This record gives sequence, C-alpha cells and structure tokens, in this order.
Amino acid sequence: CQTETNRGATALLLDNIKTPIRTESFKELYNVIPGKELGRGKFAIVKRCMEKSTGTEYAAKFLKKRRKGQDCRVEVLHEIAVLELTNTSHRMINLHQVYETLTEMVLVLEYVAGGEIFNHCVAERDEAFTQEEVKWLMRQILEGVAFLHRNNIVHLDLKPQNILLTSACPLGDIKIVDFGLSRRLCQNQEFREIMGTPEYVAPEILNYEPISTATDMWSIGVLAYMMLTGTSPFLGEDKQETFLNISQINIDYYTENELQDLSAIHFIQSLLIKEPKSRATAEECLRHHWLQEQAQKKTEENITSEICQREHAKPAPPSSYSSSSSE
Ligand code: ADP
Ligand code: MG
Repeated sequence: CQTETNRGATALLLDNIKTPIRTESFKELYNVIPGKELGRGKFAIVKRCMEKSTGTEYAAKFLKKRRKGQDCRVEVLHEIAVLELTNTSHRMINLHQVYETLTEMVLVLEYVAGGEIFNHCVAERDEAFTQEEVKWLMRQILEGVAFLHRNNIVHLDLKPQNILLTSACPLGDIKIVDFGLSRRLCQNQEFREIMGTPEYVAPEILNYEPISTATDMWSIGVLAYMMLTGTSPFLGEDKQETFLNISQINIDYYTENELQDLSAIHFIQSLLIKEPKSRATAEECLRHHWLQEQAQKKTEENITSEICQREHAKPAPPSSYSSSSSE
C-alpha cells in the first residue's frame, strides 16, 4: 500500500471530503440484517443493513484501514471522494454516510437488490441475458463509464462482479460499484500500476505501461464477451496462461454460438486491441451500430416482457427501465 501510495499519490482524489466522517457507533444506528453477506473481498465485507431511524435498507461496506501492515486510510478517503464525485450520476452507486472506528471505515451505500451481472453471466443459458438485454445493459454501463472518463477517473476494476442490477426481473438498471482501485488521471503525468483481476486486465497493466481511460475500455470488451457468451475470453488454466492469452490477444470469436452477430463481434474487436490509443472510447461505443440497432428494433416493453415470460412464464409487470439518455 505504501509503495502504491508513493507511486500513485497523484492518482488519488483527495479533495476535501464533504461527507461527515462519523465516530458514533454504527451498530447503534443500524441493524445489520442477518443472513449471507452481500460480498467479501480481501479488505472489505459488504453487509445488508437497516437504518433504525428511517427503516431504509442500505449496503454497508466495512473497510480495513490497515492492510498488509500499512495504514491505508488515505485509500478509503479516495474511494469516498470518488463516490462523492459520482453521486450526480444515476449509473453509479450512491453514498449515504461514512463511519469510522479505530480499525475500520464503514461506507453506507445505497442498497441494490438485483445482484451482480456476474450471476447472469455464469447462469444456465435459459437464465442468461439475451443479446437485446446485453445491449440494453451495455448502453447503461457505457453511460456510467463515459461519465467517469469525462471526470478523468479510471475505474480499473470493471468486471461482472462490480456491475449490479437494481432488479433482476423485470430487468432493472445497472449500478457501477467498487471504486477501490479507481484512480484520477492527471494531465502530463504518466501513471502505471500492477493491479486488477487477472482475467479482466488490459495488456498495458501486465506490461507496466501507462494507464489511461482506454484501460477501462479493454475491460468493457471482456465484459461484453462474457455477457453474451457466459465465458471469460482470456481465462486460462492458471494465471500465467491467462496473462499469455491476454498479451497475445488469444480470443475465440467463432466457436461461441451466442456470438453470431457480426456487429457484436465488431464491437468487441474495437476494444480488445493491444494499442490503447486504437481502442474505441466510451462515447464512440455508445454510437456503435451494434448498440444503435437495438433502439430501432426493440422497445423497452418488448424486452421486459421477453425476460419475464422466460423467467416466470407470466405477463410482465410495468417496465422499470429508465431513459437511456446520456448523463
Ligand atoms: P470489494 O472491494 O471487496 O470487491 P465491492 O464494493 O466490490 O468490494 O463489494 C463486494 C460485493 O458486495 C459486490 O461485488 C456486490 O456483490 C456486493 N455489493 C457491493 N455494494 C453493494 C450495494 N450497494 N448493494 C448490494 N450489493 C453490493
Ligand atoms: Mg469488487
């Protein structure tokens, strides 16, 4: 953490945080809802909880301040600053409150009930997304990523576990979570780091070359492939094989049944390019013909009823889609 902070200090967003950091007891003010945790990472546990005074449900992310023997409070402050910056975007998770104890910081986040996009990627094919659903969700993801990139923030951990759904049926909206690895890009200053999850990282991360908004766009390409096919394009038997597959862009577009749409293949190919500068940007992706086709061919109601007929074999409730206009 120390070395990361030294190298990446300029890449942390440490503007004045407006959210008060409370020292009252979190447990006095919230009930943690018993049952399975919402998620768990190396340094964080996310639990569902209810604010006692309002009865509103939230997701509380408990973050350790000390990691590998280093004080990482500044990293958490950065995550809070990014959440504050993204609070105006409805594609990103909202921050409600922050608590601090001697050992932990607790980020009280808006709770989203539809689970991770990951669950649909690995589901049996009858529960997996249809291509129309993927396009619908991909537009929203790109709107969120375009917002981040306009604000010079790179997420650096875009993967199906960090994209949540407000509801699974009817298919709701996406919310991007987990700004723990995100960084601020500074003009005229190169920034390199080895981080992220092996399957999703771009070649420049593996080669310790400069990171840019294009680094996220590589992950968007991997995400699109996974949402369409249910398989991870570069995943090998071990880390080494995965890294080799990434650096050689060893990817199979043609034996996956679900990948028969040439527009979809073209979309993914415009992102999984070794040279970062040659990759499509988020704004360009939003204008790509693969995503444009949907708007002409399908209405929102069509998609909703399709999903619910498939999942419950009964008519769909009213659509919960929001406008897909850019933020
Ligand atoms: P980590 O840094 O440990 O990966 P995340 O912020 O990604 O932490 O949270 C871990 C998991 O917890 C997510 O992948 C998701 O499944 C769940 N989760 C996180 N935030 C929320 C939320 N606001 N509502 C519901 N589930 C959440
Ligand atoms: Mg995560």
